[in-house]
Amino acid sequence: MAIVCANVEHIRRRLCDSPAGDDTVLQELLNTARGGGEVAGPVNVLHSVLQALGDLQGLSTYTIRRRTGDRDVHPAGTDRERPSEPVYLCPATRCARSWWPQGPVPVPHCAISGEALRRDQL
Ligand SMILES: [Zn+2]
Repeated sequence: MAIVCANVEHIRRRLCDSPAGDDTVLQELLNTARGGGEVAGPVNVLHSVLQALGDLQGLSTYTIRRRTGDRDVHPAGTDRERPSEPVYLCPATRCARSWWPQGPVPVPHCAISGEALRRDQL
């Protein structure tokens, strides 16, 4: 679910650019998650649809993309004492998404609840 939450806009664009031209499978998954339902089925459907669109790794394609930019890179030698590092987590704890503050980038919103991610400490 964290992949979907963090990449919902990419996935939506992918689906909307597809021949089918709509994001119904994504919408169904989000609706299920919002309602607290079992998401394994809809996740699989979305995964297969993405594969059919040519993303051979399905949802995993987006995990790789998420890696870049999701975490601050601290230049060598600037490591200072950080007793607790702030981290932002999914507000509804519906997914395992985590996000580290990135300068002026605004805090992202959870795709499921629509709320901004909540601040926490590592
Ligand atoms: Zn989330």
